[in-house]
Amino acid sequence: TVRVRFAPSPTGFVHIGSLRTALYNYLFAKQNNGKYILRIEDTDRTRYVEGAIENMIEALKWAGIEHDEGVVLENGKLVQKGEMGPYVQSERLEIYQKYIQKLLEEGHAYYCFCSKERLERVREEQKNNGETPKYDGHCRNISIEEAKRRIASGEEYVVRLKFPENREIAFSDVIRGNVVVNTNDLDDQVLMKTDGFPTYHFAVVVDDHLMKITHVIRGEEWIISTPKHAYLYEVLGWEAPKFVHLPNILNKDRKKLSKRQGDVAAEDFKRKGYLPQGLVNYLALVGWSPEDNQEIFSMEDLIEKFSLERVSKSGGVFDTDKLNWINAHYMKEASVEEITDLAIPHLVDAGYITKEEAKEKYEWLKDMVQLLQDRLSFAGEIVEKADIFFKTEITPEDEKAEEVLKLEHLPHLLEVFAQKVKEAEIVDESFGKTALKAIQKETGYKGKNLFMPIRVALTGEVHGPDLNLMMKVLGKQNILSRIEYVKT
Ligand code: GLU
Repeated sequence: TVRVRFAPSPTGFVHIGSLRTALYNYLFAKQNNGKYILRIEDTDRTRYVEGAIENMIEALKWAGIEHDEGVVLENGKLVQKGEMGPYVQSERLEIYQKYIQKLLEEGHAYYCFCSKERLERVREEQKNNGETPKYDGHCRNISIEEAKRRIASGEEYVVRLKFPENREIAFSDVIRGNVVVNTNDLDDQVLMKTDGFPTYHFAVVVDDHLMKITHVIRGEEWIISTPKHAYLYEVLGWEAPKFVHLPNILNKDRKKLSKRQGDVAAEDFKRKGYLPQGLVNYLALVGWSPEDNQEIFSMEDLIEKFSLERVSKSGGVFDTDKLNWINAHYMKEASVEEITDLAIPHLVDAGYITKEEAKEKYEWLKDMVQLLQDRLSFAGEIVEKADIFFKTEITPEDEKAEEVLKLEHLPHLLEVFAQKVKEAEIVDESFGKTALKAIQKETGYKGKNLFMPIRVALTGEVHGPDLNLMMKVLGKQNILSRIEYVKT
């Protein structure tokens, strides 16, 4: 059976590139009735961030990418789920010890006592000679007995992989085909650090093997490390999984998308009020193309149609406009309640309403959101779109609107309309229809000449959402102050 894993380091957030990696792993697993595993790679203690694992699990859950095995959150606590755990690398130190001993005994690894200072000196020298910096093999021939003596006397050490000289290492990548590297171009990789933690390279191989991973699907930045992994599989006597390296997500300048350019974390998009279906649908298409031109995909659709064969070799450009277009589709589909709930924090942040008011005026907010829902790419846009409901000053949106405000009959029309508003007990959804009919009868203004000036007076726009609901949402007082404002 297919077993794949997403193996993030707990840095505190899920980069959308990582989210896509998780998604492709998930889709591939589901499509093949396999298992998708979440493993936490926390062997770099210097990068540890408190609460990061919990955040990542929440973000993945929000995106609908849930794992079958791995670390899960239960009542706010991290627990292991599955037979092949623990799924957190810092809890597997004994396991790595066992295999590092095996490598040492068989001569595929060696203890290295070189100090940081020495390593730096060697690097500098190599650089000055125009060579690519590389460990010079200083400790390669220290016997195990001598190494044990030095360790017993308290010397610090790391364990390095002992690459044979001048040997080709080959592996095949599902997307990139065959990759061949000569060991002369490889560093004797540190496998075990002074703090007793394995490095990523060692832990990833041991874990992928013990967790019976069949396909390693990960970002292309790891492809240069894969020869090391391939060699480790060989000397450990294990069959290597299939490797699948995914193209990067690029920005508009075709550089790797990085935090400096703005939003790159799944959480950023969540906070802005994107819908998970929209983000996931869009991300699936960055680097993968379906056979036809379909653009809207539910998760079920993706599971059915996704294929590793159609993942591109070159990086995909992150296109916010397209993301917005796709997300807008899901915004329209969503219930008014859902969008209202997403919109409220933005309205509160913008200072339009307080949290308490949001509760009191929930029904009103819902009407307002209903007016705007089809025009939102993501919920955060409510702030600019809703401002007409929270201010009296109407600015004509364009020349056309300006023209309308200059119409000769406008003052008279607005006067009659204001009268109707004043007379009305309540401005509900049926008010507009009745009032406009009556005004037509009384004044003879009709069609565009009737409703357009009123729309522009109330919204500043020539086109817009349903006028009757608009009047209801604005309410009596607001309508009157707008008419007053436009008149003067
Ligand atoms: N821990 C690595 C990362 O943070 C995982 C790489 C891999 O999937 O092998 O990206």
